[in-house]
Amino acid sequence: MSSKYYLKWKCIIISVKILIIGYQQFGNMVDMERDTKQRQAIYKALVNAGRPLAVNELLVLAKREIAGLGIATVYRNLKVLHEEKRIVYVDLPGQPPRWELVPEGHHHHFLCRTCNKLFEVHDCPEDLQRLLPKGYTLEEHDILLRGKCNACSSDTNT
Ligand SMILES: [Zn+2]
Ligand SMILES: [Zn+2]
Repeated sequence: MSSKYYLKWKCIIISVKILIIGYQQFGNMVDMERDTKQRQAIYKALVNAGRPLAVNELLVLAKREIAGLGIATVYRNLKVLHEEKRIVYVDLPGQPPRWELVPEGHHHHFLCRTCNKLFEVHDCPEDLQRLLPKGYTLEEHDILLRGKCNACSSDTNT
């Protein structure tokens, strides 16, 4: 093979390689764009709800934005949002885990025993040290209030 032909083939091979890399990067960009859209839909669902959401609640709400969304995608994007420190995990005993936007400060939760929705409570009784026997030191506390939310209360009133 003459060096002229060799060079020509070499050029074609390099061009094909560039095309393949370009196509792969385009594919990655499409994947990234889809991921971003899904993540935004999940984050928006949390913002709009204004309360902590369980994964199944998030799936229902985010599906309004992205019809084909699956549970595995929700889990994957929650993990990323958590890594990006945009959401936190609310773990309550005997309850499915909930996710909420990074809270502004110390707060508590209210669980509706009828619809099982969780809500944020922004107030705190604070002087809890007085509950402890003399000589004990209170370091932290968790408070979960339980009852009927507004919607469930008015359901039984009508
Ligand atoms: Zn309720
Ligand atoms: Zn408190």
